[in-house]
Amino acid sequence: MIQAIKAKYIITPNQSFVTDSAVIIKNNIISGIISHHQLAKNEYSVLDLKNSVLLPGFVNSHVHLELQWTQKLLSPFQSFSDWLNQIITLKKNFDNSKIPKSVKEALDESLDSGVTTIGEISSYDGLDYKAIIKSGIRTAYFYEITNSTISNIDNKFLQNLLRNTNSLFNLKIFPHSIYSLDTKSLRKVLAFARNNNTNLGIHLSESIDEINYAMKRKNNLEDEVFSRFPKKPKFDSSPSTPLEYLDKINSFRQNITLIHMNNLSSDDLKILKKKQYPVVICPRSNLYLNQKLPNLKFFMNYKKTGLGTDGLSSNISINFLDEINFLYLNAKKILVKNPERRVLDIATIGGAKTLGLDNSIGTIEVNKKADLIAFDLKNKDPYLSVMHSKVKDLKMSMINGKIIKLK
Ligand SMILES: [Zn+2]
Repeated sequence: MIQAIKAKYIITPNQSFVTDSAVIIKNNIISGIISHHQLAKNEYSVLDLKNSVLLPGFVNSHVHLELQWTQKLLSPFQSFSDWLNQIITLKKNFDNSKIPKSVKEALDESLDSGVTTIGEISSYDGLDYKAIIKSGIRTAYFYEITNSTISNIDNKFLQNLLRNTNSLFNLKIFPHSIYSLDTKSLRKVLAFARNNNTNLGIHLSESIDEINYAMKRKNNLEDEVFSRFPKKPKFDSSPSTPLEYLDKINSFRQNITLIHMNNLSSDDLKILKKKQYPVVICPRSNLYLNQKLPNLKFFMNYKKTGLGTDGLSSNISINFLDEINFLYLNAKKILVKNPERRVLDIATIGGAKTLGLDNSIGTIEVNKKADLIAFDLKNKDPYLSVMHSKVKDLKMSMINGKIIKLK
């Protein structure tokens, strides 16, 4: 029977909403929104969520599920390079057979906070794969490559994934950063993605050390971190910003999702405006790693901004409501009018754009996939209500037409 999900408020596209209506779902697809007067009980199987707000599921556009375990083992640190050195040591000494359990915990934390789609960075050649598929979460799966794992582009697991992309599982390639790949290797990864019709993502402009590295100024990556790599990366470029460098290499104008984008120059902003690269900001992760916040004045108004928690290796939590709260509080003084609506856009359709999934998810619209969440009402304004929501307020979560949680 056709399903109808009724709620006091339903968030609709373009920062609007309707009241006392229901979303109609046929199989896994949204087929309409109707008023409660049109709900004839014999035609629909009705789920009445009563005093709640129904909205598109959250898109956490950047997360490392496989690094959930690092939180217990990290020591206090003073700088980005100090942190990175710790992560390198921890990864070297950790028993990788424990990683799937860590992934499961990270998935639970994500789903509990209303996330229905993740942009997962997969760094262990598929140790996260089984738990992700089992959870039913929609995934843009960024397969990570560094200098030391460049040979993985020929391996069987990745080749199989290239053939198995579907609406719940979307493969992308993730060159880790400009400082963990030789220029030649980065070109090779881009060519691989192009030959396989796959989009990409990269950590870019994350730390001030990375900027100084690309600008060929003194930096702690070269001074303190590179000695830990099997070999020092070869950076074949004149001094430039990380974005200028990447944009120059990207001669075929491939779609690359840029993660972080901190400390941007005015020329960087011009490149973004012109080329419209999707950008995922991870504000709490930036502060956690002793960096400043991204340029919110720019990114709150940029068309392709998504939001990410990053991994538990560089954040207090991967609870997406915490990230939304934080962005909202910081955005209030920048966007005077309706910051709560814009933040919710970024957390849903904005994220979908950064993962190339905006045609199928991110809004409650006819013909989109039924990825929906609902929270108990905390305020008479449905948008503000979501800004105030906590994990315990999640009333329902549905991915691809299937109910994952119902309170
Ligand atoms: Zn990351």
